[in-house]
Amino acid sequence: MKDKIIRGIAKNGDVRFFAAITTNLVEKASKTHGCSPVASAALGRMLTAASMMGVMLKDDKDKITLQINGGGDIGGIAAIGDSKGIVKGYVLNPNVDIPLNAAGKLDVGGAVGIDGNLTVIKDMGLKEPYIGQVPIVSGEIAEDITYYFAASEQVPSAVSLGVLVDRDMSILAAGGFIIQMMPEADDFTRDILTYRLDEIPSVTEAINKDGGMNTILDELFDGMDFQILSEYEPDFICGCSKKKVEEMLLSLGKKELQDIAESEETTEVVCHFCNKRYNFTREEIYELLKNA
Ligand SMILES: [Zn+2]
Repeated sequence: MKDKIIRGIAKNGDVRFFAAITTNLVEKASKTHGCSPVASAALGRMLTAASMMGVMLKDDKDKITLQINGGGDIGGIAAIGDSKGIVKGYVLNPNVDIPLNAAGKLDVGGAVGIDGNLTVIKDMGLKEPYIGQVPIVSGEIAEDITYYFAASEQVPSAVSLGVLVDRDMSILAAGGFIIQMMPEADDFTRDILTYRLDEIPSVTEAINKDGGMNTILDELFDGMDFQILSEYEPDFICGCSKKKVEEMLLSLGKKELQDIAESEETTEVVCHFCNKRYNFTREEIYELLKNA
């Protein structure tokens, strides 16, 4: 099944929703970073959220960054999404290995920890980015993002994120949805949705069967005149280049760059997001300095 994001509305726009299938992009991210099962689940949930929150952005060039660091063994996770649902991200400790939780599931909350914050940064081409920060609720990520929407954006939302990891560590299914109540939504709609949300199967269960996300949407919005407004093809793509790394090196400042050139024969820069290595010879660094 191809990855996709669906954006739509129900009840004449009183409710809006985003639904995502991200199995392939999570697989790509997991392989890129050599993730353990629990790291795949945590990173996959963050990337799925970033891809849906990315398509919420208004402008083509806007970007959203999600960061979570709760003091757990995973050490922190970052995910960046754009307005087309293209994402990149990493976990600080992709080897994290902790026992399953009491429910017999991968313990994402335990790996992330709850001693810290979830930070959302929206870069909308303005001088200052928008930054929202909330304390971590459970570290399970979906609950934390739900709390972020309520506390920071005042939008009541239901967020579900899931990643199903196979025994051979490949990704069997990944995806999620975000459902948001617009201010016009009445209590009745809210109550019905809350009730139905309790009844639907898990996201990964739905994706793993043939119906995909449509089964969930059909059940949730039955009788609510739901409409699909647009579809996107999310992917895990870094987009780094030697040119961008040069700009990053220049931003360190002349003094720092001078020191690097003097002390190192070759300088290796590794991209956090895709592990690609960029090598600069001493001559190349001097050349950069000349043009700085
Ligand atoms: Zn990269």
